[in-house]
Amino acid sequence: MSLNAESTAFRSALEVIRAVEPRVADAIGAELADQRESLKLIASENYASPATLLAMGNWFSDKYAEGTVGRRFYAGCQNVDTVEALAAEHARELFGAAHAYVQPHSGIDANLVAFWAILADRVESPALKKAQVRQVNDLTEADWFALRRELGNQRMLGMSLDAGGHLTHGFRPNISGKMFDQRSYGTDPATGLIDYDKVAEAAREFKPLILVAGYSAYPRKVNFRIMREIAESVGATFMVDMAHFAGLVAGKVFTGDFDPVPHAHIVTTTTHKSLRGPRGGMVLCGPELADQVDRGCPMVLGGPLPHVMAAKAVALAEARRPDFADYAQRIVDNAQALAEGLLRRGTKLVTGGTDNHLVLLDISGYGLTGRQAEQALLDSGIVTNRNAVPQDPNGAWYTSGIRIGTPALTTRGLGTAEMDQTAELIHTVLSQTSPRSNADGTPSKAKYVLDAALADKVSKQASDLLTGFPLYPAVDLA
Ligand code: PLP
Repeated sequence: MSLNAESTAFRSALEVIRAVEPRVADAIGAELADQRESLKLIASENYASPATLLAMGNWFSDKYAEGTVGRRFYAGCQNVDTVEALAAEHARELFGAAHAYVQPHSGIDANLVAFWAILADRVESPALKKAQVRQVNDLTEADWFALRRELGNQRMLGMSLDAGGHLTHGFRPNISGKMFDQRSYGTDPATGLIDYDKVAEAAREFKPLILVAGYSAYPRKVNFRIMREIAESVGATFMVDMAHFAGLVAGKVFTGDFDPVPHAHIVTTTTHKSLRGPRGGMVLCGPELADQVDRGCPMVLGGPLPHVMAAKAVALAEARRPDFADYAQRIVDNAQALAEGLLRRGTKLVTGGTDNHLVLLDISGYGLTGRQAEQALLDSGIVTNRNAVPQDPNGAWYTSGIRIGTPALTTRGLGTAEMDQTAELIHTVLSQTSPRSNADGTPSKAKYVLDAALADKVSKQASDLLTGFPLYPAVDLA
């Protein structure tokens, strides 16, 4: 696609939007400018291709399409069928899965679809059968009580939040924590790594219905073969949430024991993180769970988002190209270069390094909380997020950690040399920031002191680092 086609497409779109609500057009333009200038190290973010973005901005958004391909509750879904079938086909081929369900609107939705599919598969529940043949809205209160009684208190074993697990794996602030009786496995305090013997022990004691693997802040590979064996040994269904590292699976960086698809009964993912697609979710499974998974709408999802499924089809087609494997490998090379650069400068890293796309800094050595570090870095043009580290003394709000990831900068084309420079910028900011005291003299966990001139200097260096790697180079809105 030529430069002119992409620029023309986005310029025209903004012109049309500007005629109705100019402030929205301005905000869209400002967002591109901001993203172009910042050193984005958020491990869960990326930059989708112009083709993926454009596939979302159209009349597919107007269509209702409850049901599945060829079996809809609405008329006129032939074109939605085309894109949904394409997205599913690309997903099956890319990941080597027997079945792909591409309707989930997000990662949390994909997990809910998977949980309900597993419950329906594993738990004998007449009320659930009734729920599935009728529209959920038609259920009486008595039906809902029966459903809760029959399905309630099932057990889930997942990775603990402070070891890097995700809220949707049975933690209280999320509905999964209310649906399940949850227990979690952590990491070895000395190494920061998953201790599979301990997971097996917890599984033997707790006897979960579902064993969940997957994380949002664990910087290492997980051995899914061993996890499956543990699940088998206690009769649990093994689910992997690969939301964070789906791009590394797609790009064949994670293979063998580290590829979840051949080992798990069911795999969920987001499509917008390392996979570099539109915001959304997806479920992969074998034929045994396929029927239940396909009931995601209306069980837990509203009508599918056909425009996003179209964009998923485009992004998955991109991920099937040979250059995506190169991209995935560069994500990991960059994360390792960043980790090495930080270690060389004395930064403490959880597990001492990384073998995926993310690095978890334990910034207690700088005398800062994650909250202070996150804000000081942001003042300096470096976008990260704070994250708890295992056994974090500062809890989940202030934290002692900063999580950084390389999918986005790798999309822009930055390489290992730039990662070393990035490590230098991060270290400079953190070592020059100090905590500020509260009015009563006690140390604040939020306030900090950072020389404004230094923050400006680092911001300038960060933006200089990016000049050779323009974001959306073919898109000129000027
Ligand atoms: N699962 C994991 C492991 C995640 O890291 C996330 C997002 O951070 C989710 C699920 C939820 O994804 P979404 O924000 O699309 O609902």
